[in-house]
Amino acid sequence: MPELPEVETIRRGLAPHLEGMRIAHVALNRSDLRFPLPSRMAERLKGAQILPLQRRAKYLLIPLDTQETLVIHLGMSGRLLIEAGADSSSLAIFHHDITRLRTHDHVVLTLQDGRTLVYNDPRRFGFMLLEGSETLPAHSAFAGLGVEPLGNDFHAAGLLHALAGRRVPLKSALLDQRIIAGLGNIYVCEALHRVGLSPYRIAGSLTRHEAEELVTAIRLVLLAAIEAGGSTLRDYRQGDGALGYFQHDFRAYGQEGKACSTPACSGVIERQVQAGRSTFFCATCQK
Ligand SMILES: [Zn+2]
Repeated sequence: MPELPEVETIRRGLAPHLEGMRIAHVALNRSDLRFPLPSRMAERLKGAQILPLQRRAKYLLIPLDTQETLVIHLGMSGRLLIEAGADSSSLAIFHHDITRLRTHDHVVLTLQDGRTLVYNDPRRFGFMLLEGSETLPAHSAFAGLGVEPLGNDFHAAGLLHALAGRRVPLKSALLDQRIIAGLGNIYVCEALHRVGLSPYRIAGSLTRHEAEELVTAIRLVLLAAIEAGGSTLRDYRQGDGALGYFQHDFRAYGQEGKACSTPACSGVIERQVQAGRSTFFCATCQK
């Protein structure tokens, strides 16, 4: 499942290829992904000009000059490719280092200059929406979402307010998309380890100081991943490589059995299953 940094990297990678372009042709090679494709999708996209790309949580937003926005969620295995017209050499492959089969190219948008944006998804857990840009925030996919962790509305005071009185474990609260939008398991584990907070802490018990440190850590782990994604993207820009997860510098996630990297801590990273998800943490320094 792509996490927020991957989707943000995809947005940044696609932007220079797509923004300002008109969609000349639309090929839909099937009628559904996880859900049916939007009605009259090809007709509604054809001729539209692409405005600056956006992201909300783990959704890629492609606003159009028709006052509609194409929303793409990559699901488990979706990826987007930009291809250069007839020679079909990939300019960029975004996400997942699995072999690409053309039979899984479900949606192909041809741009005015002949290049194509291809949506490829072997498992078809991804989906697309085409909604009025004005009313998009009220759509059921977006209406209940919490703050963007990289946005200005994510701050210690707001987090403390959202967690006040909550008796659930801190990790569960941080994964609650109604509180913070798009924050996933990997980055919660990493942020909690960096600030020495146990995933089992009662969410409502966070102090102001701890909330400030946690907000900073969440931003830093996300930005570091986006930074790593950017360099991965540059490396692959001209090649045929794929962009996988950014496992560049995990200190807790996936580090089970390894010595804790916190200075002066002699603990070991453990893995436990918490609310059905793997939690990686150090019981010695995370309190
Ligand atoms: Zn430790």
